[in-house]
Amino acid sequence: MRLLIVEDEVRMAALLKRGLEEDGYVVDIARTGPEALWRATEFPYDAVVLDRMLPGLDGVEVCRELRAGRRWMPILMLTARNSVNDRVVGLDAGADDYLTKPFSFVELSARLRALIRRGSSERATDLALADLRLDPATRRVWRGDVEVELSVKEFALLEVFLRNPDQVLTRVQILENVWDFGYEAGSNVVDQYVLYLRRKIDRPFGVRQLETVRGVGYRLLPQPVSEAAVSQAGER
Ligand code: CA
Repeated sequence: MRLLIVEDEVRMAALLKRGLEEDGYVVDIARTGPEALWRATEFPYDAVVLDRMLPGLDGVEVCRELRAGRRWMPILMLTARNSVNDRVVGLDAGADDYLTKPFSFVELSARLRALIRRGSSERATDLALADLRLDPATRRVWRGDVEVELSVKEFALLEVFLRNPDQVLTRVQILENVWDFGYEAGSNVVDQYVLYLRRKIDRPFGVRQLETVRGVGYRLLPQPVSEAAVSQAGER
């Protein structure tokens, strides 16, 4: 079993390394965020112990980048802070567990064993339809290999469509899922945001996947249709 410890404090890193080696692990140390990212991308670690406060790139960013790069080894995050919000941020970024400094080595060791036993699994399942892909954990979206930047609402809207592929969603259904009930602007806001979304996920790629179902609502097609085919068939 090979572990990566990411910790910039030299004494703490040495202490962890010695303890974990006594537990029988092979242990590497990274002292900065970028170094951690590089090592964890290049080598197949069985788990990563990741300090939150790091020079270069903090632990949350490192975690997010690793998950975005589809590295699913268990990650135990260490932090000096202990607010619920910090914990949520860490877990949202894809950490599996969270330990607040100061901690006992015995606890760290036990938590690591539990994580490694569970193994690396894709806990954040991507939503995908044809070459359109959304990662709920990292909140990123791709069309093919191209990453698409979406606003919070555009992302929420796309997520609803991807969770209901090839189904016609009415404006009311969309409103209820993406906006608060009784949003005052009414259903026009849905049309507006569908337009925004198309400008990002469809039009730049010369395709139409998010289609209008006249008088009813919208549907995300299983396959994108080329814009040329759409104009020949008349606006849909
Ligand atoms: Ca630190």
